[in-house]
Amino acid sequence: MNKRLFLSAPYMSGKELDYIKNVFDSNYIAPLGEYVNKFEDSIKNYTSSKNALAVINGTAAIHLALRVLGIKEGDDVLASTFTFIGSVSAILYQNANPVFLDSDKKSWNISVDLLKEYLLTCDKKPKALLLTHLYGQCADIEEIAKVCKEHNIYLIEDAAESLGATFNGKHTGTFGDFGIYSFNGNKILTTSGGGILVSSNEEYIKKAMFYSTQAREQEIFYEHEEYGYNYRMSNVLAAIGVAQMEVIEDRVSKKREIFSWYKKYLSDIDEIKMMPELENSRGNRWLTTLTFEKTDYNKVMKALDLINVESRPLWKPMHMQPLFKTAQRYLDGTSEKLFKKGLCLASSPTMTEDDVIKICEVIKNECS
Ligand SMILES: *Cc1c(COP(=O)(O)O)cnc(C)c1O
Repeated sequence: MNKRLFLSAPYMSGKELDYIKNVFDSNYIAPLGEYVNKFEDSIKNYTSSKNALAVINGTAAIHLALRVLGIKEGDDVLASTFTFIGSVSAILYQNANPVFLDSDKKSWNISVDLLKEYLLTCDKKPKALLLTHLYGQCADIEEIAKVCKEHNIYLIEDAAESLGATFNGKHTGTFGDFGIYSFNGNKILTTSGGGILVSSNEEYIKKAMFYSTQAREQEIFYEHEEYGYNYRMSNVLAAIGVAQMEVIEDRVSKKREIFSWYKKYLSDIDEIKMMPELENSRGNRWLTTLTFEKTDYNKVMKALDLINVESRPLWKPMHMQPLFKTAQRYLDGTSEKLFKKGLCLASSPTMTEDDVIKICEVIKNECS
């Protein structure tokens, strides 16, 4: 049996252990230390964001964003329904109400038309929009940011999957009040677990830092007026992040290349549609995803499993989750259709063109 090909396996640059060794030599094993600052600086430089805060994971970064923006019990927060649970669970941490918005066909991300329609017709104005750039592909973010400004609602970009993706040359995560990136094990870069919160607003990041370190007031003793969290990233993990950031552009190129191979070798199957990319944007193609018009994806998944290749259905929309059965929603059926027809394919950076050719042969065999 060949080694299993995963959706998105971690891929080290080679420098990680050297940097971790530096951390051990300095004995700064605890949170904070030189590499946390370096990791934040590398994100700031790469994405051109003014302020960054490294935390334990992407979910915590989203939680801090909501907390800093004052999202609280009873508030409505608009959110992508077509996303991963980690994107929206912090809305519940704040006892706020998610309102799930559907996707459009041209980006698979939040539909600008539905967003506008909702804002014109809703009884209660939402406080914020929490938008996911799904599978590393850009939402129609310039337009969405404009709509949020016009309606005076905060914009938080969940760019957990989209580090390296740009819209008109500007990085996802830098259009709104806050952006977040994840460095979980399966993301385009990983620190084994980690997240970064970015904002152009320095006060916001200062406040997020305060909450991420137990909300300690500036006294020599421990004084607390508010409660916080223990969310700061460890210096050891930040050392991995610094090494990973050195190869981000290589990873984006490789992911895009893998996508282009799939596209090429599946182009003769009419019923297959690859996830689109908006004009003027460069997605990072974190995962290659597609839909089948007729073929049942379960058949394809089973056939791929037999040759030891991982594949998965697309994210099940949040409004279809039992957890959210009573949550508000504004839908036109797009994400449900995509969920019923779509599959994520193995997209690990070590893959070769021959791997993709082999996978595409199996997929074609299953298409009727
Ligand atoms: C991975 C992911 C998260 C959560 O990030 P963690 O670092 O795993 O907490 C949030 N949103 C999306 C869309 C993700 O893919």
